[in-house]
Amino acid sequence: MARIYPLFSSSKGNASFVGTPSGGVLIDAGVSAKRLREALTRAGIPLSAVQGIFVTHDHADHVSGLRVLCRQTGIPVYAQPQTRESLFAGHYVEPEADVRALTEPVTVGGMTLMPFATSHDTVQSCGYRITMPDGQSCAVCTDLGYAPEDVQAVLKGCRLVLLEANYDVQMLRTGPYPECLKQRISSNFGHLSNIQSGELARFLVQNGTVHLVLGHLSEHNNTPERARQTVTAALGGYVCGRDYLLDIAKPEDGRMIAF
Ligand SMILES: [Zn+2]
Ligand SMILES: [Zn+2]
Repeated sequence: MARIYPLFSSSKGNASFVGTPSGGVLIDAGVSAKRLREALTRAGIPLSAVQGIFVTHDHADHVSGLRVLCRQTGIPVYAQPQTRESLFAGHYVEPEADVRALTEPVTVGGMTLMPFATSHDTVQSCGYRITMPDGQSCAVCTDLGYAPEDVQAVLKGCRLVLLEANYDVQMLRTGPYPECLKQRISSNFGHLSNIQSGELARFLVQNGTVHLVLGHLSEHNNTPERARQTVTAALGGYVCGRDYLLDIAKPEDGRMIAF
């Protein structure tokens, strides 16, 4: 059965393992290689099961563990062309690292990963729709300022979506961040608020998604309770536990979620 482990999910670091009992891939490596290896071990995933590392974008909370992990393991990295260049230029990988340019869907270990463009404040960024060997699909969709129709279309029909719910609008407005940072976060190149996440969640549940995992919550501008409350309210008319399942990924999370 297909499974996702949201190993790390917050503004401090992101990495998920998606796969089957016979192997899978990491989406991002945004904590130290040591912490990633420990998390994989705790989850019962041998390093040899990781057949690729798919990068969403070049922010440190998604790639800070990449250089050491690649050096230690030689696991191939996949990134969109401009992100790939940026990984080398920013020394997030060593010059000889095996980083493959991702311009179309790629099949690794029987899973097909399709990048889709997201709107975010970096040179290039993407989410991934992943079709598992059994035909089920899931998606990782974080770090986007808004979800235009083309993103909605890509996510449509995924059984499970790891969906960003970065900030609570009120908490961001009244919180400690400087005004310029607040504006960046809430811009079309920032992150999804709980309200935006709820709107997208509603569209997804209307179109066949049964499992939502909210992730990349800000530790300063959100709480799991607020994210759950806002998204559940947006899903009014649908009953949690009957029509859909809702989980909140923790900043460090050892759970396996089957789908
Ligand atoms: Zn980012
Ligand atoms: Zn991020």
